[in-house]
Amino acid sequence: MRTPVIAGNWKLYKTTGEAVELVGNLAPLVKHARDVEIIVAPVFTVLGSVAKAVAGSNIRLAGQDCFWEEEGAYTGEVSPGMLRDAGCSHVIIGHSERRQYFGETDETVNRKIRAAIDGGLSVLFCIGETLEEREADKTFVILKKQLSGGLAGITREQLDSVIVAYEPVWAIGTGRTASDGQAQEAHSFIRETLSGLHGKETADRIRILYGGSVKPENIKGLMAQPDIDGALVGGASLKADSFAAIVNFAG
Ligand code: PEP
Repeated sequence: MRTPVIAGNWKLYKTTGEAVELVGNLAPLVKHARDVEIIVAPVFTVLGSVAKAVAGSNIRLAGQDCFWEEEGAYTGEVSPGMLRDAGCSHVIIGHSERRQYFGETDETVNRKIRAAIDGGLSVLFCIGETLEEREADKTFVILKKQLSGGLAGITREQLDSVIVAYEPVWAIGTGRTASDGQAQEAHSFIRETLSGLHGKETADRIRILYGGSVKPENIKGLMAQPDIDGALVGGASLKADSFAAIVNFAG
């Protein structure tokens, strides 16, 4: 019912040559992948070159962030329209590294999500609790706050352009993955919360990805969970063979 999404977040890695080489190696390894949407999110400066390299393939492009204004005196920012112009269909918004190091709040995340959807992009909207919050039993409170804050003012129709990525901060880049059960519990809570906000039918349609040290070795178990609809992959997306093995999880 929900087509799985496997998205690679390349973070601050890969120069133009390296990025083009990576997608060049990846494309043949995933070309037979059926019933899965494949997305990669390179740094802004290489988007144009990667867009050319993936043209005609089943790999789609995402920006790693965007600003909420379309243009203006905002030095250093990139707008949704500019991402589209560079070949992106998607954008990651609210990644925990942006919340942690660049002062993103639920409010700025919300402004960005609304602008991105208005600009014709689909959004990979990241949420997740820190280790401290999990240990203080605040996981669900945090997820609910991030969901309702990030999606404030978003209509049911607009929600069709949103993919939620549940990324427990303690599992990102640490090698420590949430267990299948822990991830499923959080995903089920997220779907229930979305159902409360926008109705069951809409919530049942939304893809919820898991992110946090996803590797070829753990993708199958995660994907077997009823509310896990794909993965947002950091480290393991930087090599064609490991990312392809995750994309081809079913095969
Ligand atoms: C991420 O960057 O979104 C991520 C989940 O990273 P990693 O897979 O390296 O934990």
